[in-house]
Amino acid sequence: MSHYNILDHAAKYAMNYLDEIGGRRVFPSTTSLQQLQEFSNSLPVNGEESNQILDRLHKIGSQNTVVTNGGRYFGFVFGGTLPASLAANWLASAWDQNAVFKVSSPVAAHLENIAGQWAVELLQLPSSSAVGFVTGTTMANFCGALAARYQLCKQMGWDIKSKGMNGAPRIRVVVGEEVHASMQRALLLAGFGMDDLIKVATDNQGRMIAENIPELDASTFVCLQAGNVNTGAIDPVKNICLAAKEKRAWVHIDGAFGLWARVSPKKFAMTEGCELADSWAIDLHKWLNVPYDSGLIICSDAEVLQNALSVTAAYLPEVTEPDPFFNTPEMSRRARGIDTWAAISSLGKTGLTSLIERCCYLAEQFASNLRDAGFEILNEVVLNQVLVSFGDAKTTNRIIKKIQEDGTCWCGGTIWKGKTAMRISVSSWMTTEDDITTCSKKIIQIAKNELEQLQ
Ligand SMILES: *Cc1c(COP(=O)(O)O)cnc(C)c1O
Repeated sequence: MSHYNILDHAAKYAMNYLDEIGGRRVFPSTTSLQQLQEFSNSLPVNGEESNQILDRLHKIGSQNTVVTNGGRYFGFVFGGTLPASLAANWLASAWDQNAVFKVSSPVAAHLENIAGQWAVELLQLPSSSAVGFVTGTTMANFCGALAARYQLCKQMGWDIKSKGMNGAPRIRVVVGEEVHASMQRALLLAGFGMDDLIKVATDNQGRMIAENIPELDASTFVCLQAGNVNTGAIDPVKNICLAAKEKRAWVHIDGAFGLWARVSPKKFAMTEGCELADSWAIDLHKWLNVPYDSGLIICSDAEVLQNALSVTAAYLPEVTEPDPFFNTPEMSRRARGIDTWAAISSLGKTGLTSLIERCCYLAEQFASNLRDAGFEILNEVVLNQVLVSFGDAKTTNRIIKKIQEDGTCWCGGTIWKGKTAMRISVSSWMTTEDDITTCSKKIIQIAKNELEQLQ
């Protein structure tokens, strides 16, 4: 008997979970959450049978998941997993490849290269860009900030690679008022202070007001956003990029989910000019529906990214062309490119375009159902994000809590321009029109019920 028969078990349990996903509560019930205590035994002295370990994980673990991989999870901007990508992820896990070097995994390096080039082509970004596979947009934003820091310092006659941060010339960092927490964290990690950010006012959809951008120069780092996490709105990228290019400022775009709008001919116009930026961060685990964790840093100048991130050392393999680790901050790393290669292979350009367009269409449906029921939609539904208010903050929060407790679907709360709202994100290949109908009905019923009780 093989040591690995256990994988058959895992596959059986996984399929069982996924096949029943439609009927599951989206958030665990209080009773099942209590069962998590069954995991709280003391440190095992002697090892346990693998089968037993897996049985326990299946029995208690699976019912305490949040069902983000089904069609009725609308929290944050999460996205599910495409079957081909999930399966490829399993196979790659079985291979246990270290994607750091070509010499540590030819297949990982090769597929990262292909998947990276496909992503660049799909997003219509400069074809000679360098691509790094990282954990998500936060790390990608971090890499973008490091590339910007490297290049801007260089323009000011400072080689940050040899001299570091001590005594380095000052960099001006420009962000929108609606900058995502992830971009702020990335800036913090890269050595920029939160009080030092120049914040540009935004319009009612969260887009930077281009006229309010301060004078740009060769010491300025501009962080733009493609896809506001609340409204889905995209900054007026084109004009800002054109102005920045002229002044040799660096433009980075946090395009976690919104940059995927570029694969849709219907949505492309709102992303116009994104190709003019210097670096881009995008998630694969969100709208591309690749398993966690996965994102890309894309940089138009391959040399800048490599200089910002990599060093040479005697024990590292001698390379004549860039190795995967040139474009990432990590050394050892799982082979993320394999899941992405499988996801893009299974969708094709057409399939990805319909995934993006379907989510946008379903978000519009959701919004119109709620609007028809008398609730206020706070944003222009331009992408896959919907903001709905049920009244004042207290009422809206109460209704959100009831919706979460009910378990039919899951939506989170947010505050948009001072107003408390429920946020809906449609970002999974699994979501159908039926899901939208069922969930709209449920949300409306819960909201009306609460409002009646409050009267
Ligand atoms: C989700 C998101 C991020 C953070 O991405 P992670 O993959 O969670 O690190 C950054 N920016 C925006 C606009 C996002 O929506």
